[in-house]
Amino acid sequence: MFKLWRRKKVLALHPAIDNGIAPTAPGFSGGTLTCHCKTNPVKVRISGQTAHNHACGCTKCWKPAGAIFSQVAVVGRDKVEVISGADKLVVVDPNATIQRHACKDCGVHMYGRIENKNHPFYGLDFIHTELSDAKGWAAPEFAAFVSSVIESGVSPDKMPAIRARLTEIGLPPYDALSPALMDAIATHVAKQSGKLPA
Ligand SMILES: [Zn+2]
Ligand SMILES: [Zn+2]
Repeated sequence: MFKLWRRKKVLALHPAIDNGIAPTAPGFSGGTLTCHCKTNPVKVRISGQTAHNHACGCTKCWKPAGAIFSQVAVVGRDKVEVISGADKLVVVDPNATIQRHACKDCGVHMYGRIENKNHPFYGLDFIHTELSDAKGWAAPEFAAFVSSVIESGVSPDKMPAIRARLTEIGLPPYDALSPALMDAIATHVAKQSGKLPA
């Protein structure tokens, strides 16, 4: 008889955004990412705040079980240090632009690194700050590659509800990266080609 009282099922986009977004702490200086292994986990120390944190709908980023989106941010590669379990890390796809270093036992991606020095984002590593217990990491600001969730098997007819929910949470949905990041990429390309002064 209580069935009618059951709450309407809310879309499980990602645990870090479904129930409200944790605020960024001023002066936050980092924390340690830990993979999901119960024993001998991989640990990666991040000695700084992240930037451009966002929900990502692409099929390459690591997502927690049941989530439609990943949550991923960038940090300078000099701020990333594997402090435990380095022998368990493998590169998921050596041919990918972003070399995602994953724990071979639990599958969690610990950091993604760009080795191409000409890439607009060279020098930045991609990390999932939900792997840290620390509070105060940069809050997500937008949702990227939203249409790509269909490639993971999400029904296209769910897309209006997904975009509406992202907007409601405060994450503007984009089908590429945010305009600021797309502009940064295009500026980098124009400087390399000489269309803009370097
Ligand atoms: Zn692991
Ligand atoms: Zn992604």
